[in-house]
Amino acid sequence: MRKNELAVRAYDELNKLYPDASCSLDLDDPYFFLVRAILSAQCTDVRVNKTVIDLKKVVDSSDAILKLGEERLSEIIKPCGLYKAKAKNIIKTTVIYNEKWNRTIPQDIDELVSCPGIGRKIGNLLLGELYGIPALVVDTHFKRVAKRLGLTKSDDPATVEKDVCKVSDPSMWIRMGHLFVTFGRNICDARSPKCEICPLSDVCKGKKK
Ligand code: SF4
Repeated sequence: MRKNELAVRAYDELNKLYPDASCSLDLDDPYFFLVRAILSAQCTDVRVNKTVIDLKKVVDSSDAILKLGEERLSEIIKPCGLYKAKAKNIIKTTVIYNEKWNRTIPQDIDELVSCPGIGRKIGNLLLGELYGIPALVVDTHFKRVAKRLGLTKSDDPATVEKDVCKVSDPSMWIRMGHLFVTFGRNICDARSPKCEICPLSDVCKGKKK
């Protein structure tokens, strides 16, 4: 099967399996969505959402975060792990958000990734979720599923993104991210993939023998 056909097949099967798949980070406000995205590194979305509920009891804006300061912020976001680095990133990003971006998230990936603390994963997440701009979010689940299926040979997220984008239509990208992540969490598990119940087992190159 050609890679573009494989991408469509995977998309269609997973779309049937997970009709409600969506981003699991709360999206109440673009700035706090950006904060959640930074907090989500190596942390579950459930924990991030809960932590931001606690954070928003103390601050309600980017200005208030800067006033709060790095040390106090790091105490509040501690449950998300890597809290010192994340607090530093949130403060640096907030200064850019306020001063350079005029309190608006840019709609341009190059501008987004020019900000320390924002990589392609977060940048693409912001473009897709905030603006509906076609963008593929490659996280650890996406990378694993794409490689097992045979859509890429790479482990490098930027190369995986390029490989998958090359063989799929832009209209698929945002939803494909949600579908692959949900599938990776539920069936195509890192340690024990449930190949016996997988709807893609007939076309998967990485199927468990
Ligand atoms: S067959 Fe197994 S390895 Fe392949 S996509 Fe399905 S669950 Fe993942």
